[in-house]
Amino acid sequence: MLNFARKILAGAVVASAFIAPGIAAAKDLVGISMPTKSSSRWISDGESMVKQFEAAGYKTVLQYAEDKIPTQLAQIETMVGQGVKVLVIAAIDGTTLSGILEDAAANGVKIIAYDRLIRDSAHVDYYATFDNFKVGVLQATNLVKGLEKRFGDQKVWHVELFGGSPDDNNAFFFYNGAMSVLKPLIDSGKIKIISGQMGMKKVGTLRWSGQRAQERMDALLAAHYTDTPIHGVLSPYDGLSIGIISSLKGVGYGAGDLTMPIVTGQDAEVPSVQAMLRGEQFSTIFKDTRELARVTVKMVDSLLKGGKPEINDTKTYDNGVKVIPSFLLVPVPVTLENWEKALIATGYYKKEQIVKK
Ligand code: BGC
Repeated sequence: MLNFARKILAGAVVASAFIAPGIAAAKDLVGISMPTKSSSRWISDGESMVKQFEAAGYKTVLQYAEDKIPTQLAQIETMVGQGVKVLVIAAIDGTTLSGILEDAAANGVKIIAYDRLIRDSAHVDYYATFDNFKVGVLQATNLVKGLEKRFGDQKVWHVELFGGSPDDNNAFFFYNGAMSVLKPLIDSGKIKIISGQMGMKKVGTLRWSGQRAQERMDALLAAHYTDTPIHGVLSPYDGLSIGIISSLKGVGYGAGDLTMPIVTGQDAEVPSVQAMLRGEQFSTIFKDTRELARVTVKMVDSLLKGGKPEINDTKTYDNGVKVIPSFLLVPVPVTLENWEKALIATGYYKKEQIVKK
């Protein structure tokens, strides 16, 4: 029944509905469900998809759920009611969609998991994402590079770990990828996690909240770093890095004798690239959302035309019911050494967006 979410959610606000104008009614409708506008990457994802789907002759309905699970369910339900042929979904919580997808599939709707895996459902047809384990490897590799550069004279590096949202499958891939690099250094004693807090249960950050990250960093600094400095923080996302950096600056890092620790990130969001230029954040990971949109549009187009979408991975993403055929794009590590090449020369940003005149 399509009604279950409606019943629970009577009155839920359906935000940001956008129906692309001017396209013949006979064209297939694609529903795009994005998690939140609070992070600019998802805005770029949505805009790129609408643009590219329209160019390929589709109509689109794009909605953002502001990180509220019931809102996302209601929005998807509405899209199914509107007669979408395909749903492209970046889930807020990858485990909450089984019921609604059951309904969608019963209506003949194809389902693409976008960037984040949708778990516990047999109805996910394809998955378009980046190599998420590699993202973690690159984050940790940058952390170590930064530690060597800024704290090469230290025998032991004091580091703290942050993870992403435990309801996002990606968060585990990022963490595990990072630990594949860091674990040997922790085992050898070169890196010391002074708080002892390791594992996603301890270091995960629900809903990728920058504020939660800031609060946890405040607590870590107060409990473990009053007599000894911290040298590095593994952060899996720029939005968390902003909170972490603000906590570090709050107790004086980056001024006087307290050298700014190495802080990583992900998504190359404008405020974080600017923080890199100020020497506050060390690195980020660029994931070209235009490319992810391109791969997704191609997937949908070939699926709807009865073809076989191009995939390059059939092993990695088991969603608990089946392994989802996937296309993985390559993430790009970014530091001050290559930010212009990665972000400006590729046309992703204009230089004036980053460096104000
Ligand atoms: C995405 C990351 C993003 C994070 C927070 C993850 O699922 O893969 O690119 O930083 O969500 O929005």
